[in-house]
Amino acid sequence: KVVVFWFRRDLRIEDNVGLYFALNSGYRVLPLFIFDKSILARFSRRDDARVDYIHQAINSLNNTLKDYHTSVMCLHTTASEAYDKLFEQYDIAAIYCNEDYEPTSIDRDNLIAKKASSRNISFFQYKDHVIFKGGEILKSDGTPYQIYTPYAKMWRVKLDDRALFDYTTILCQESFVSVENDLPTLEELGFERSSLDYTHPILDEGIISNYDKNRDYPAIEGTTRLGIALRFGTISIRKCVNFALHHNEVWLKELIWRDFFSQIMYLFPQVVNSCFKDKYERINWRNNEEEFDLWCKGQTGYPLVDAGMRELNETGFMHNRVRMVVASFLTKHLLIDWRWGEAYFAQYLLDYDLASNNGNWQWAAGCGCDAAPYFRIFNPLEQQKKFDKTGVYIRKWVQEFDSLDYKNPIVDNKEARIRAIETYKKALI
Ligand code: FAD
Repeated sequence: KVVVFWFRRDLRIEDNVGLYFALNSGYRVLPLFIFDKSILARFSRRDDARVDYIHQAINSLNNTLKDYHTSVMCLHTTASEAYDKLFEQYDIAAIYCNEDYEPTSIDRDNLIAKKASSRNISFFQYKDHVIFKGGEILKSDGTPYQIYTPYAKMWRVKLDDRALFDYTTILCQESFVSVENDLPTLEELGFERSSLDYTHPILDEGIISNYDKNRDYPAIEGTTRLGIALRFGTISIRKCVNFALHHNEVWLKELIWRDFFSQIMYLFPQVVNSCFKDKYERINWRNNEEEFDLWCKGQTGYPLVDAGMRELNETGFMHNRVRMVVASFLTKHLLIDWRWGEAYFAQYLLDYDLASNNGNWQWAAGCGCDAAPYFRIFNPLEQQKKFDKTGVYIRKWVQEFDSLDYKNPIVDNKEARIRAIETYKKALI
């Protein structure tokens, strides 16, 4: 008999909770990754850097596993078909994996657990992706927090050594079932190498120690760019939190936001398609397609908005301060449904994560939990003065900024602000 360890958004060997328990099960472990056809179908571009990133991450797992005469078994099919095949091929005692809190992933896992159970195969899942999952940090009356600050306070109170345990296991020659390297090429998967440069991010002491001073200035390399690594689990969240505790509490707060939005999506899965606050469904969005197109291309005539959108289009990254500005601009200045912006970000962001993207978009639109009141509207020109005073960031992405060719604003700042407040007010009274 063997046990399966199913890699998903935890593409690392060290400090991986589910893998730790699989390796300590008393059986040899069969490492598995499924290039799930139903998930790959969501990527519309052949050169999507995220598929490339996953591919490279598995390649690097294989390099480590080589010393143990194995590699990750890769199946290019659906999860259900993959297990049908495995159940025929191996005598499996149990499947081990880490929890994934997205609604569609939960459905998939329930299906596989049921399939396994009908063959008397256990299905074990562990918390690995977050420090505290939905339901673990509750108010004294047993209900979930919907406001970040008290949530973060309780999160800090609950944080103990157990939550930060390092699950790294020492491997040996008997750890794994031997598997021939069968990693398909990107072309075989229907994709190709991406031209984007997403140099593998690391826990950079210099950046993190100065995070509180630099994080708001998009012209500075002041944030870690670890988003993609946290999304696909090439780095452990426990390791990041430990590092934050020793180097910068302000950075820790960002990691707590990640847990916060993960628990919101888990406990209120309706947010995936709907406003967290019902009333906001009544907003009469203008949804002008031409204006949306100009926003997407970074041609709104607002330099900071344009720079941000062009940075996103060209690199798959956008600085957090600028994400807040472009999201506010779309939902308030242009009165375009936050779901349009959310979907656009989902297509382009390398660090795209359903819970964080959805939570932050709803926050920007005012309809999310703990969102700013609707009448607080980012002024893109003031934001530019405050956070890119000398225009270094803007000039990097908007080359025509200083020339007469630079577009006039597509909406007047003052008029757009008044229109937004009136539209929101109408919906909310
Ligand atoms: P750092 O500033 O170094 O922070 C470290 C990590 O903390 C991040 O990688 C991320 O995992 C987490 N984090 C930081 N800020 C937030 C936050 N506000 N909410 C949740 N987690 C946070 N973040 C995503 O990971 N995926 C998304 O799809 C995403 N979409 C966003 C959409 C909008 C409209 C906005 C305003 C923000 C969004 N964010 C998203 C949050 C934030 O902008 C990014 O996490 C951050 O900019 C990533 O850069 P970094 O890796 O250098 O982060």
